[in-house]
Order: sequence, then structure tokens, then C-alpha cells
Amino acid sequence: MFADLHLHTNFSDGTFSPEELVSHASRHGLAAIALTDHDTVEGCARAALACAGAKIEFIPGSELTAEQNGNEIHILGYFLDTQNATLLTEIGKFQAVRQNRIREMVARLNELNVPLEADAVFALANCRSPGRPHVARALVKAGLVANLDEAFERFLKKNRPAWVPKAKMSALTAIELIHQAGGLAVMAHPGLNRSDEVIPDLVEAGLDGIECFHTKHPAATAEHYLQIAKKHALLVTGGSDCHGLSKGKPLIGTVKLDYVHVEKLYVARNKRSASSVSPSPLPAGGERAGVR
Ligand code: AMP
Ligand code: ZN
Ligand code: FE
Ligand code: FE
Repeated sequence: MFADLHLHTNFSDGTFSPEELVSHASRHGLAAIALTDHDTVEGCARAALACAGAKIEFIPGSELTAEQNGNEIHILGYFLDTQNATLLTEIGKFQAVRQNRIREMVARLNELNVPLEADAVFALANCRSPGRPHVARALVKAGLVANLDEAFERFLKKNRPAWVPKAKMSALTAIELIHQAGGLAVMAHPGLNRSDEVIPDLVEAGLDGIECFHTKHPAATAEHYLQIAKKHALLVTGGSDCHGLSKGKPLIGTVKLDYVHVEKLYVARNKRSASSVSPSPLPAGGERAGVR
């Protein structure tokens, strides 16, 4: 039995609806999936329903855009209470940041005589958590660039003329936010960021796990992070980071996490919820009851 614990839908920058994603999961024979859209949990209710129909275990999650010591770090939250008021308020702030950033990127494009309208991006994105891939798709759709690669290369990549940095929450806040919503916090694709030096700080803040298996982790990278997981007694997770059809063939099912790791996540989640008497409100500072 296998799982894919890193998946996006059109509630962020993936192209599949939750139902389409689940039908792909079903076709790949996955026993469990987690939905981890960027800075939102909106797609989880529909994904949960579709999974119930397909007899697939569903873990509600999100991928929070965060930073630590100037490094962009993505923190996956698993088993989130998707109704948690603090979680919804905090991620709502970052959704607003994302929307304002779209307007800024479009303004920069306009200064470069690229006549894109922000509303065209919002209409195409049709979600609260838009990002650069939506700007790129809108540029292609308007015939202003030939393809997504050209959009990133010419305009949207870091330090290109229409790139706008994104305000992020601190990784330590992200971990606390996930915990107070009943979830487990996992460092996403550490091999992409190559900022191993932040791991001890995250562990200190209560990080529960690390994503060892990922589409962009070659075997040696996965092995490196398995060793780190062992060293810090972290849970091991993995997923394809599928964004649907945005990059050709869908990635779902290409990273197969052994279900034994999902069982360990359940055990850790139950331990954490049993030990958290009353979750501390954000911002942190209050002591979190017995971890791990
Ligand atoms: P954002 O969160 O708005 O900064 O956008 C990040 C997303 O853009 C990620 O999901 C990446 O998959 C995508 N992305 C970043 N750089 C590139 C690139 N050079 N080409 C295509 N997609 C990219
Ligand atoms: Zn994405
Ligand atoms: Fe990510
Ligand atoms: Fe992702």
C-alpha cells in the first residue's frame, strides 16, 4: 500500500479539481492521499468527499509558504482542522498578500509594455491563493508569451523584471499555527531549498517530520534526509508535488510513499492531540504540552 502526501489542486496552482485529483489517485491505486494546496485548505472538503467515495484515506493539509533566516521554507501541515479559526485567519492574511502581489506583478508587466490585466489573472486563477503560475498561464492565454517557460524566464523568475518577492510567515510561526490546528508540521522538499542549517531550529520549534521522498529528490538526496530524520527522530513523508497538467504529465503516483509511514503519522497525530490540553493562541510564547 502506498500514499502520495504532496498534491495541489486548482484551489492553488494545480490544474485538477479535487474530484479529478482523486480519480487520478484511484487510477494509481493509492491507499491514502493528502491535499497540500499553497496557503489554503479550501479544497479539502471536496477532496475528502471524493476520497470517501473512492475508498481512499484522506489527510487534510496545506503547504504554508514560510521563511527562516532569509531562506524560503515550505511547511506542510497534515491532519489540519480545516475549520480552525486561527488557521483560517492567518492563512487569509497570506492569501491577501498573494492577491496584492498579483496586482504588483501585473503593474510591473504593464510598465514593460506587456498589456496584461490583473482581472484576467484572477479570472483564470479563480481561487484565493493565486501565484506566479497563474500570471504565467494568463500571459500564455493572452498570447503575450509562447509558453510558461518563456513567462518565467523573461518576467517571473526571481530577479526577473516582473518578479515581486512574497511576504512570508516565519517557519516557526507556521509550525505553531499547524500545531494549534491539531496538525503535524513537516518540512517540504528540503532538497530543493538546500537549507539544512535551519533544520535544528525547526526541530527545536516542534517540527514533526521531513519530506524525504519528492519528485525532485534523487535517491541520494532522499537517503541524506532519511539520515537527518533518524538523527532528529523525525517522521518521514513523501509525495509527488503534483500540479496537474501544468508541466505535462501529471506527477501523482510517481512518488510512492510506503503506507507504514502514514501509520506512523497517525500515531504521532494521536499522541500530539492527546497531550495538547488547550492549544496556545498565536502568536506563540505559551508552552505547548509534551511534544512527540
Ligand atoms: P509563487 O508561490 O507565486 O512564488 O509561485 C511558485 C510556483 O511557481 C511553484 O509552484 C513553482 O512550481 C512555480 N515556478 C517557480 N519557478 C518556476 C519556473 N522557472 N518555471 C515554471 N514554474 C515555476
Ligand atoms: Zn505550486
Ligand atoms: Fe513547495
Ligand atoms: Fe507543493
